[in-house]
Amino acid sequence: MPTIADYREALEDMVFQFAYRSMKGEHRILHAGGLSALEHAFRTLGWTDPYIVSDFACEIAGCEQWCSCVGPYPRSQAKPGLDRKMIGFGYLCGTHYFTWSGPAAKPAADLGRAQ
Ligand SMILES: [Zn+2]
Repeated sequence: MPTIADYREALEDMVFQFAYRSMKGEHRILHAGGLSALEHAFRTLGWTDPYIVSDFACEIAGCEQWCSCVGPYPRSQAKPGLDRKMIGFGYLCGTHYFTWSGPAAKPAADLGRAQ
């Protein structure tokens, strides 16, 4: 039998998946975008609209943008000091995703693409 905590976690998961993502200054925020179902969910969770989120940053060191894509990248970009030949696969912002993936990806010998 689901508990109240289970229902709350499910509602939070839905909001994280479907709410609008944006930046407000240097903060990542979720907002309802005027959609009544999301506004209801924010109110039920006791969250402000917009709601500041401290997690879900791009995995690249120093990048504070929302992670919105999943793709490969040189691990040394996330943890300086690691061998550049180590390839990671993880959560990236759109800018970093398109740096190493997509039709305009830069040549990257460390990801197996010709220079
Ligand atoms: Zn990034």
